[in-house]
Amino acid sequence: MLSMDSSLHIEVTPNTDPVSPERLAEILDAPGFGNHFTDHMFRCEWTPDRGWHEPRVVPYAPLSLDPATAVLHYAQEIFEGMKAYRHEDGSVWTFRPEENAARMVRSARRLALPELPVDTFVASVDALVRTDERWVPQPAGEKSLYVRPFMFASEAFLGVRPAQHVTYLVIASPAGAYFAKGVKPVSIWLSEEYTRAGRGGMGAAKTGGNYASSLVAQQEATEQGCDQVVFLDSGEGRYVEELGGMNLYFVHDDGTIVTPETSGTILEGITRSSIIELCGKLGHHVEERPVSIDEWREGVGTGRVREVFACGTAAVVTPVGRLKWRGGEAGVDETGPVTAQVRTALVDIQYGRAEDTFGWMHRVR
Ligand SMILES: *Cc1c(COP(=O)(O)O)cnc(C)c1O
Repeated sequence: MLSMDSSLHIEVTPNTDPVSPERLAEILDAPGFGNHFTDHMFRCEWTPDRGWHEPRVVPYAPLSLDPATAVLHYAQEIFEGMKAYRHEDGSVWTFRPEENAARMVRSARRLALPELPVDTFVASVDALVRTDERWVPQPAGEKSLYVRPFMFASEAFLGVRPAQHVTYLVIASPAGAYFAKGVKPVSIWLSEEYTRAGRGGMGAAKTGGNYASSLVAQQEATEQGCDQVVFLDSGEGRYVEELGGMNLYFVHDDGTIVTPETSGTILEGITRSSIIELCGKLGHHVEERPVSIDEWREGVGTGRVREVFACGTAAVVTPVGRLKWRGGEAGVDETGPVTAQVRTALVDIQYGRAEDTFGWMHRVR
């Protein structure tokens, strides 16, 4: 078995037909989100007898999959999402990549996939970002290179059991601001029919299945004129969990900042946990506890809840404006001061404009 420790050798096969500098400039000018992909991808495979093997960077290309490939039938798949940021001095950095690596290990355990060692994960992201460094945009307008590591059951077999052939890939896509509207409050639809995770389910794993189950609720949100959907706990339909792909924060009138506690049904966002630490440094008191939908609904009416924001790698920190449900709506339409302060503090660390006192940034180039 090949060991994949930090000395691991990653073979690079250059793309002989890379995107032209002119076309790249056009793409980086207005990247959008998830539309364009870099010239290369990282790839390695796992089998029970060989473990993880043949780590390599190869030209970005379509995959050829047998129609019986297990992931297409049973959704044994996990992913991560992170960004590479260019600083003013030209250097390139990622944000807490070991945290993404550790979460991917936890997701792998839940989905009965093989664990990818933390240092292999970090090395894979570093290798791809270094190879495609010219794709990391200049920092203006909060542009970045979004990196998507993922792992899936690539065995061609229709029996139901953990796959004996697994593929791990990393692809990357230049990104502008996640929401087309920019940093303006988003509106949220309260899903009362659908939930995203139940006790003992996959809510804490970053897996495509959770997104598949959220889409119909997101569709309902769009029909209701809302940007995003919020899910409640599946047991009582009473406690706020999270959005389809972002965690939530509430700022109270006494200055306390509250975020729903993670108890297996909420995805443990790295942005979420970083904000807890950041708020401590900014002098805010943070509580992790259950938050009922009534506390939100009534709180914005009485003024007890001053600000609501959502957070995640893709959209960083996004103010939440209106909450809409069958029968009513409540909320505010401007970005609150604490939301703006937290957002700026985090983004400034990521883009190297503020000192990284937490040691969160990882230099790639
Ligand atoms: C990825 C994700 C988040 C945000 O996690 P970050 O690590 O902050 O990007 C929140 N909720 C869900 C469901 C997610 O998949």
